[in-house]
Amino acid sequence: MAKEFVKDVTSMDEDFAQWYTDVVTKADLIDYSSVRGSMIIRPYGYALWDNIKNELDNRIKETGHENVYMPLFIPESLLQKEKDHVEGFAPEVAWVTHGGSEPLAERLVVRPTSEVLFCEHYSKIIHSHRDLPKLYNQWANVVRWEKTTRPFLRTLEFLWQEGHTAHATDKDAMEETIKMLNVYAELCETVLAIPVVKGQKTEKEKFAGAKATFTIESLMHDGKALQSGTSHHFGTGFAEAFGIQYTDKEGKLQYVHQTSWGFTTRIIGALIMVHGDDRGLVIPPNAAPKQVMIVPIAQHKEGVLDFAYELKKSLGSVARVDIDASDKKPGWKFNEYEMKGIPVRLEVGPKDIEKKQVVLVRRDTLEKVIVPLDELEMKLVELLDDIQSNLYNKALKHREERTTVALTLPELKESLEAKPGFIKAMWCGELACEEKIKEDAGATSRCIPFEQENLAENCVCCGKEAKQMVYWAKAY
Ligand SMILES: [Zn+2]
Repeated sequence: MAKEFVKDVTSMDEDFAQWYTDVVTKADLIDYSSVRGSMIIRPYGYALWDNIKNELDNRIKETGHENVYMPLFIPESLLQKEKDHVEGFAPEVAWVTHGGSEPLAERLVVRPTSEVLFCEHYSKIIHSHRDLPKLYNQWANVVRWEKTTRPFLRTLEFLWQEGHTAHATDKDAMEETIKMLNVYAELCETVLAIPVVKGQKTEKEKFAGAKATFTIESLMHDGKALQSGTSHHFGTGFAEAFGIQYTDKEGKLQYVHQTSWGFTTRIIGALIMVHGDDRGLVIPPNAAPKQVMIVPIAQHKEGVLDFAYELKKSLGSVARVDIDASDKKPGWKFNEYEMKGIPVRLEVGPKDIEKKQVVLVRRDTLEKVIVPLDELEMKLVELLDDIQSNLYNKALKHREERTTVALTLPELKESLEAKPGFIKAMWCGELACEEKIKEDAGATSRCIPFEQENLAENCVCCGKEAKQMVYWAKAY
């Protein structure tokens, strides 16, 4: 039975891209819509996003931010106020040109990001040092007209949060930028069990209009990297373009220092590609909408369903528990919840009831344990913790095994082909070398990590004096 079902999913080592497509649809996360590159997020996918969103929203509020909502449309003239910003986004914006059949006097952009809207608003509400800092966040959808799309990873429309803050000093803005990067990293590591590398983007890879962009980068099962969250320090660039000024304590007019930071539904793609296996999704317990699925065995026999419902009720205080009491066969249910990556399956039948025990099956290793009823709560909590840390450690081990050092460009190329993953290599800081590495090896600079190592004195590409160590990889 299990075998038959597994046939439906392409093996991940055979064709990783096809495996991914199979999993997102067969685990009921999404459906394709009639608009190219757009997806329907189905209840199970949305429950997963809801859970991640709630975890992040709590952290955003705990760090003193307030949620707001900005409009969907941006007037063309407003988008054009910051030169780098408009140049960065122009190729992928969607335009609204008509209202009904009437052409608009000014075209509108469907927001690709909301910097300019926040800036316009800040210019109206910030006057004095007493108005600072402004710590706003919004949960919204944004639209970017992407040419090639894949569910969660790159879609025309996606969901995210974008934080936008204004501060009195450069130092305050820098602290905020790093603070929120750390919030993202902590969320990835403790909730999603995804280890991340923290660092700064190069000039080439930074956000359009930012003074500096910081990122967390994670490594997928196939050895490609995924940018998992970014935090930008804007300096006073946007403030100067939009006239966001405040009067300081000495009565002098100053520009505010701004930040923005974003985390998107892309992370679900990362979750799938970091933890999934040939049976489908594997969701870490802290991120899972349902942590335990109870599957009654021989449920037509007297007392089984009652007992199973009792268990659901009593375990509800320690975990997110659901029960499948439908008349589908247990084998079908086992496969279904393995595909959906539910961390623990709890089986209970007449014999178990007699022996005062249940069977727990963990999704990550597929190991079975028989647990006496009077120890169930305690054992379940332990098991969920164990699955959470096992998934993190497994992902970390995979990343470490797939992180190599290159001292020359041929070495870097060879390494990427033989064992795709992160390549650590020294860099002179020149754009020309960054572009050559991309052209020759297909790898982009992922970040200049905070944790630097001195691997060599010379740039991996040109051989001139190196300034920093950089993580390179092929990326999603
Ligand atoms: Zn160089």
